[in-house]
Amino acid sequence: MDEHFDVVIVGGSFAGLAVAMQLPDHRVLLVDQYPIGSHPMSACGTPLQTVQAVGAERSIQAVHRTLVLHIGQREVRFPLRDPFVTFDYRRFCQEMLAQTNADVWQARVTQMGADFAATTRGRVQASFVVDASGWRSQPGADTPTQAPRGYGLETELPITWDAPGLHFYVEKALVANGYAWIFPCGQTTRFGVGSFDKSLQLRPVLAHFLSRYHLSPGDTHGGVLVIAPRAPVVNGVFRVGDAAGHCLPLSGEGIRTAIFHGIHCGRAIAGVLAGSLTRQEAEALYRLQVRGNERFQARLLTLQTLVAHTPEWLLALAGQICARPALTHRIMGRYLTESGWFTRASGVATTHSREKQPQEHLSRSH
Ligand SMILES: Cc1cc2nc3c(=O)[nH]c(=O)nc-3n(C[C@H](O)[C@H](O)[C@H](O)COP(=O)(O)OP(=O)(O)OC[C@H]3O[C@@H](n4cnc5c(N)ncnc54)[C@H](O)[C@@H]3O)c2cc1C
Repeated sequence: MDEHFDVVIVGGSFAGLAVAMQLPDHRVLLVDQYPIGSHPMSACGTPLQTVQAVGAERSIQAVHRTLVLHIGQREVRFPLRDPFVTFDYRRFCQEMLAQTNADVWQARVTQMGADFAATTRGRVQASFVVDASGWRSQPGADTPTQAPRGYGLETELPITWDAPGLHFYVEKALVANGYAWIFPCGQTTRFGVGSFDKSLQLRPVLAHFLSRYHLSPGDTHGGVLVIAPRAPVVNGVFRVGDAAGHCLPLSGEGIRTAIFHGIHCGRAIAGVLAGSLTRQEAEALYRLQVRGNERFQARLLTLQTLVAHTPEWLLALAGQICARPALTHRIMGRYLTESGWFTRASGVATTHSREKQPQEHLSRSH
């Protein structure tokens, strides 16, 4: 007979671990094809509050209080009221995993449904199945084949980068419809390139970018940025993180959103397992939560298209205007709260600054 779990989570990275952390009192199985934390695919830059929300402060490598935009030959510095950090992926995942009571299987999931997952280690039954398998997740019939996507490639080199801040390079001659980045991480530095243009070969672009500093790429990692929302619940399977298209257009930020929605997804499922919600209510609650972000994601997508068609001199001018501290704080504050923000007290704040909270629609009395 197949083993039974309360919840099976496919993918043990940001989204999957955030879900598991909300279910300490239940029988949870985390399935990942690799040992947890062993395969980073990200530059691991996120607001400090994301790290604090999941208690993974010990993974922090560097704190960044400035975002530096290099547009053509110009440099624009944005002061960050809410600092960003770069962190060690393995340590980050280990810190999150330590706060779960989940069983972990290293196996590949070949098929999943509302109450089962078929894995290379055997088949399991579950009351809930969560797809947190990232960009490799099958999009399904609900996603248009032409849905916009981004592509990123990165290398981490054992050198220190003296110029403080997170550096982005917007140079159309270097990366068409995208940007390059340099993220200092203490004793190492991450160099990457990303584009929203599928036809661009990123490997030579990365090599060209590094050659400016007389460097060459070491091991590389990367993948797809799933910036178009997919249905949050399909045939009874909950989706979260990149599997649900939670990555943000323009910035390519997907760690914070994966964790933010992972927390909400896990809490909705915990509500059913504790008997305070029905399954239908939990699905509706989660859908509503995710939908609150989709409008903002759509606006970022429009902005992304606009940036791709704007000359560098005009981008630099707009950047200089927005770099005034009061305006930067306003823009960043809006960007963060509209796409999933955390409070220290509760772990999760609202994405809906002007909307009703989902709980207000759906709370049940007993
Ligand atoms: C080059 C690059 C740099 C980036 N840098 C940043 C950044 O600095 N900051 C930021 O916020 N975002 C960044 N992103 C985006 C960010 O990495 C993703 O949005 C984020 O990783 C999504 O988290 P996730 O948990 O949904 O998926 P993932 O982190 O992709 O995790 C999915 C997990 O599922 C597992 N898995 C997949 N398929 C299966 C299967 N069939 N069976 C079992 N396990 C499976 C994988 O092994 C993996 O562990 C970057 C993306 C790229 C490509």
